[in-house]
Amino acid sequence: MIRGMAQSYAQLQAKQRFDDLMRFLDGEFQRIPDHRTGNARQYELADVLKAGFAMFSLKSPSLLDFKKQSEPERSNLRTIYRIEGEIPSDNQLRGILDGLDPTFLRLLFAACFKRLEETSVVDEYRYWQRHVIVAIDGVEHFSSTKIHCRGCTIRKHRNGEASYHHAGLAAIILDPDQREVFPLDFEPILREDGAEKNDCERNAARRLCEQLHQRYPQLPMIVVEDALYANAPHIRQITGYGWRYVLNVKPESHRSLERQFAGRRASGQVKEWRMKDEQGRERYYAWVSHLDLCESAADVKVNYLHYEETDKRGKVTRWSWITNLPLSQKTVEKVMRAGRGRWQIESAPQAHRKEVQHELTNCASAAREMKDGPSESAFRSRLQTTPSRYGQEPLVVSVGGEVPRSYLAQVRIRETNKSEPSMTRRKP
Ligand SMILES: [Zn+2]
Repeated sequence: MIRGMAQSYAQLQAKQRFDDLMRFLDGEFQRIPDHRTGNARQYELADVLKAGFAMFSLKSPSLLDFKKQSEPERSNLRTIYRIEGEIPSDNQLRGILDGLDPTFLRLLFAACFKRLEETSVVDEYRYWQRHVIVAIDGVEHFSSTKIHCRGCTIRKHRNGEASYHHAGLAAIILDPDQREVFPLDFEPILREDGAEKNDCERNAARRLCEQLHQRYPQLPMIVVEDALYANAPHIRQITGYGWRYVLNVKPESHRSLERQFAGRRASGQVKEWRMKDEQGRERYYAWVSHLDLCESAADVKVNYLHYEETDKRGKVTRWSWITNLPLSQKTVEKVMRAGRGRWQIESAPQAHRKEVQHELTNCASAAREMKDGPSESAFRSRLQTTPSRYGQEPLVVSVGGEVPRSYLAQVRIRETNKSEPSMTRRKP
């Protein structure tokens, strides 16, 4: 009985909060200058942005054709997402948002984060002393073999064909124990960044970290990234800001580390810990401190953690990370969980999307009619973890990709503590 009441109270609060957020967002959208020239403006820019937001807040895998909505659905869209004028169609939405400078939308991340901070939600995400985990990874949000622009990155395929892509690096706050994640920023990966895809991503990562440091100066971070970013310039940048890092490393790309680790093991300097967890999995940690990242960067000293997990059927999975967090039997689990945080939250968005869709009737049917399926892409398969954080389907959109998730994520935060009235959040 009491539990039921608490839940409905929480639900009520969640809706209330969504209204607040939509009102806030509405105001922010109204302030974005219209980039369109000419007089023929059937749609207000703010309405187009709100429609775009609605689409992402519903976590549809592709652009919805809002024109296909039933009358009650359209009415819900208007009421909940505060769309005042006509609801633009899929193509109109794309056409209008394509030309908008994403900087305006990017600034909204910090504005939303401020709201989040004020509710002390951020304190619940402090993972290591005051540090929060910030996972950075690539997201591809446009892919085509036909349509392209000057900014597109190009991928040449073995059969001689080329495909065009837009991608960016997303920075997200997460906690392995929390269901919700919060976007902090989104940095486009540009063609001008370099001839090689890896150069493009590394340059984008440098700019993204500069922005993060500038926009969130009071937020100490533990940067969690994959092996592509485990390089000396990037680590110098991270430590220069006073941040921590947990970066994945691979034997094939970090041979020097492997050799040093083997050498330390041979001389008995590697510490080990083997234990069984509640699920019956065997966990094995092996770690050592103060290795050189590589021969050419002896100034960059790293702590190295190797981790193996053996499930009940005997299947072994291995990971290795470098970190500037101190390693000991007391800390290795925490470091491991930070490093794996990117994977642990994979299942959350799926459940989340289902709830949202139930709330606002079934928009998924319109989405299914869209032909854009997952594009074949080495990039995507490598970056698989990130799109899935936002929902399993790839995001094939134009500009709006970076806007809306933050808001919904904020809205749903209440669900993590259903049994508590929302106004009495515990202080850490
Ligand atoms: Zn393009």
